[in-house]
Amino acid sequence: MNGKIRIGINGFGTIGKRISLAVKKQDDMELIGIVKTKYDYNALFAKNLGIKLFVPSEEHIKNFEKSEIECSGTLEDLIRECDIIIDSTPSGIGAKYKQFYENNNIKAIFQGGEKSSIAEISFTAQVNYERAIDKNYVRVVSCNTTALARTLNTLKDYANEVYVSVIRRAADPEESDKGPINSIIPSFNSHHANDLKTILQIEITTNAYVVPTTLMHIHDINIELNKKISVDEVFYLFENTERVLLLDINDTAKIMDHSKNLNRGLSGDLYEVAILKNSIYIKDNILHYTQAVHQESIVVPENIDAVRAMFNLCSKEESIYKTNKSLGILKKDYSNNHSMEKQESRILV
Ligand code: NAD
Repeated sequence: MNGKIRIGINGFGTIGKRISLAVKKQDDMELIGIVKTKYDYNALFAKNLGIKLFVPSEEHIKNFEKSEIECSGTLEDLIRECDIIIDSTPSGIGAKYKQFYENNNIKAIFQGGEKSSIAEISFTAQVNYERAIDKNYVRVVSCNTTALARTLNTLKDYANEVYVSVIRRAADPEESDKGPINSIIPSFNSHHANDLKTILQIEITTNAYVVPTTLMHIHDINIELNKKISVDEVFYLFENTERVLLLDINDTAKIMDHSKNLNRGLSGDLYEVAILKNSIYIKDNILHYTQAVHQESIVVPENIDAVRAMFNLCSKEESIYKTNKSLGILKKDYSNNHSMEKQESRILV
């Protein structure tokens, strides 16, 4: 492949707009355009960023006729200019597009709301980058699965059985029409365990509880150990795991507030899974830790790495390094460091 990989993004919502911003920061990729169904403040955001806007089909062009936004064509036109489409349409809509991508002979990345059968493999960069090399269809797993994959991949050799309570945010911040407003809704033996097994072989059971918050998910993780490990060793392993951050903060509102200080991506984006430092303890043969997941941004770096793997541009290590550097992904805890000057100089090293 000569030159930059030309990328089109179908669906410009929570995930799609963040991937678009990340693509614009890569020196080996070029954002050709995005697909929007209708005119709204996100369409205006794309225009203000100088991103070309396309529509799914001719019938959607009328949705932009009375707006100040010029439509550059349909998805089919966009595909003609691209090497790959990153599909970030709502859950289940990606499946409807699969045949269209195949018919147009274009590679595609799907998101975690789609069934795993939509793609040749499910993907998290640290776990199985190599399996995505030269593939045509890859699915980046969901926010919850990405977070579980990152930390459990590090501890898998110590794990007999893993038991996780997933405390799920009810909706993303802008989804004002979703609930619950005043309830906690469980699902026992939730799908998260099986989803994780599409990329990581580990014995795991998950129960999920939807709670009335929009900020983050929390995972309360208990690992039944098959061999001895100390808390210090767990710290050491996590400190040396990419895209995992040990934080001295204990609640999701403060973690999000801290993330805004970092000033990356869209306000408050936290690409790393945040492990609450003081949650790590070992009792008998059970290791416990709690992690927080910024659902809106954690999968963004994975989409960038998936592109590099699918075009066999470089090794896993090189791709993760390039993505981390371009997005300012951290390896240190800055939550107790009040010197922004110092912080900024460390972020991009
Ligand atoms: P979203 O609803 O915020 O955005 C989807 C966008 O696609 C919207 O702009 C919508 O107007 C547009 N769209 C709808 N129908 C379309 C069509 N036919 N053609 C083109 N565009 C269309 O959704 P999202 O939260 O960004 O989720 C996208 C995918 O990412 C889903 O598979 C989801 O499961 C997954 N995901 C979401 C999160 C999250 O927390 N939001 C986290 C990880 C993965």
